Amino acid sequence: MKLLYQGDICMSMEEALAQLYKEYECRFAGNEFVFGCGCIKPRLLLIGEAPGREEVKLSRPFSGAAGKNLDDLLEQVNIRREDIYITNAIKYRLSKTNPRTGRLSNRPAARDEILTSRPYLLREIEMIQPDCIATLGNVPLRAVTGRFSMNIGECHGMPLREVIQGREYIIFPLYHPASVIYNRDLLQTCRADMLKLRSLIESLEG
Ligand code: URA
Repeated sequence: MKLLYQGDICMSMEEALAQLYKEYECRFAGNEFVFGCGCIKPRLLLIGEAPGREEVKLSRPFSGAAGKNLDDLLEQVNIRREDIYITNAIKYRLSKTNPRTGRLSNRPAARDEILTSRPYLLREIEMIQPDCIATLGNVPLRAVTGRFSMNIGECHGMPLREVIQGREYIIFPLYHPASVIYNRDLLQTCRADMLKLRSLIESLEG
């Protein structure tokens, strides 16, 4: 079992993650949370933007329409969810009320929301220590690198190296799986990028 030191206290990975998520819940109290899940010693860590309605309902990242697209892309390259860890840059639902219908809908993350959640994401990465981190869309890419000038359209499918909490990681930027819902033309690009990610992971295994 992998043990981590949090201050003077020695904890299992599960305990350390649970404590991190508890701190997060206190910091952002009043929201609807969905935390990371999967294999806690993964080669690959996938990071999305924020959970939506479906994710909150099932308490699991990527359970809705974007999750279906993600599962299809992962299946195409034989990556199983149980072998990876999946989390979000922001771990609570970002919603807004439609003034006409009074119903809640998902909304994009604001810069300050990315920044306030960022320290927790970096600690989560430090605990999990994956061989490779794939970011899904602009929000996790900017959250991980801290560079808001980065744009997924310019760097998808191209690995970069980034030092996080003193350790170097390979970051692999991917489009968000929801992007193909709005632009079908991106599907081939997403598939090609996923194949590149698979090859990269295989090269790390050898
Ligand atoms: N989109 C995300 O970025 N994360 C989820 O968990 C679901 C949809």
